[in-house]
Amino acid sequence: MFLKSYQNEIILTLGCDGANSLVRKSMGFHHISSNYNHMGIVATLKLPQDFDNVVAWQRHLPNSGFLALLPLTEGLSSMVWSTNVEHAKKLIKLPENEFVDAINEALWKVYPKSGLVDQAMRTFDNLVRFFDLPSSSVTQLPPKILGCDINSRAMFPLGLGHATNYVGKGVALVGDAAHRIHPLAGQGVNLGFGDIICLNRILGEAVYSGSKMGNLLYLKEYETERQKHNVPMMLVVHGLFHLYSSEFTPLVLLRSLGLQATHALSPLKKLLLSRASGLRYWET
Ligand SMILES: Cc1cc2nc3c(=O)[nH]c(=O)nc-3n(C[C@H](O)[C@H](O)[C@H](O)COP(=O)(O)OP(=O)(O)OC[C@H]3O[C@@H](n4cnc5c(N)ncnc54)[C@H](O)[C@@H]3O)c2cc1C
Repeated sequence: MFLKSYQNEIILTLGCDGANSLVRKSMGFHHISSNYNHMGIVATLKLPQDFDNVVAWQRHLPNSGFLALLPLTEGLSSMVWSTNVEHAKKLIKLPENEFVDAINEALWKVYPKSGLVDQAMRTFDNLVRFFDLPSSSVTQLPPKILGCDINSRAMFPLGLGHATNYVGKGVALVGDAAHRIHPLAGQGVNLGFGDIICLNRILGEAVYSGSKMGNLLYLKEYETERQKHNVPMMLVVHGLFHLYSSEFTPLVLLRSLGLQATHALSPLKKLLLSRASGLRYWET
C-alpha cells in the first residue's frame, strides 16, 4: 500500500501484505521463521438458536491441538482448530456430519487426568475456597455444534515469523508481514491493529514537526516501540505452544495450576487480559 502526496509522489510504502510479504522480501529484511508442523482449520459453525452465544471458547486437546470458537451471531461461531498436519489433513477431508461429530467430541470429551495433577488441582481449589477467592471448579458448558456452513472449511499452515527490521527508507511493515504467531492466543490481529495505531501516531508526530512521513528517524521510533511490544508477546505465545504441546506430568501440573491461579487472582487476570487485548497500549 502506498501513501502518496498531493503531487502523487509516493511518500511511504506500507508492507501490509501478510506473512509472505513481497515488500519485506524486496527490502531484503532479515526474517526469522519456523514451522509449527501445525495447520489451522477454520470453519463457520451452526449453533442452537437458544444458546447464549456471547463467550469465546478455547480448549486444549491432548495430542490434537487447540480448538477455539469465536461468537459471530446468535446462531453462528467461527472455529479455529489448530492441530498437527496429519490430523488436520484427515479432518479437512471428513464428510460434514463426521466433521461436526469430531468437533463435538473435541469440545465435550472428558480426558483422563493424571492422579497427581488431579489431586494437586483439588488441593489448590480447596485453598482458593478457603481464602474466598474465585474458584475455577464451576464450569460453563460449551455449545453443541449442529452443522458447518458449506464452503467455510479451509486450512492454513501455521508458523512463527519475525522480521528483524520493520522499517527501511520510505517503507514500514505492519501486521503479519512483520510478525507471525500461532493463533492459540488469538493475538495476531491485535498485534497488527497495535502496529497501525502506533504508526499512525508517530507519522502524525512527524508531520506535525515538519518532517516527511518517510523520515527514517520517526520510522525507527515505530520499529522500536512495536518490537518492544510484539517480541515479548511472540515469545509468550511460542512458550505457551510448547507448554501445551507436552503431556509430561510436571508441565501439565504447571499449566493446570497456572490457569487456576490466574482465575483466582483477579488483578493478575485483569493484567493479562489488558496486555492480551492491547487495551493498555492503545489507551496510552
Ligand atoms: C488459521 C488461522 C487462524 C487464525 N486465527 C486468529 C484468531 O483467532 N485471532 C487473531 O487475532 N488472529 C488469528 N490469526 C492470525 C490473523 O489471521 C493474522 O494475524 C492477520 O490476518 C494478519 O493480518 P494482515 O493484514 O497483516 O495479513 P493478511 O490477513 O495475511 O492480509 C494480507 C493481505 O495482503 C494481500 N497480499 C499479499 N501479497 C500481495 C501482493 N503482492 N499484492 C497485493 N496484495 C497482496 C493478501 O491477499 C491479503 O489480503 C489466524 C491465522 C490463521 C492462519
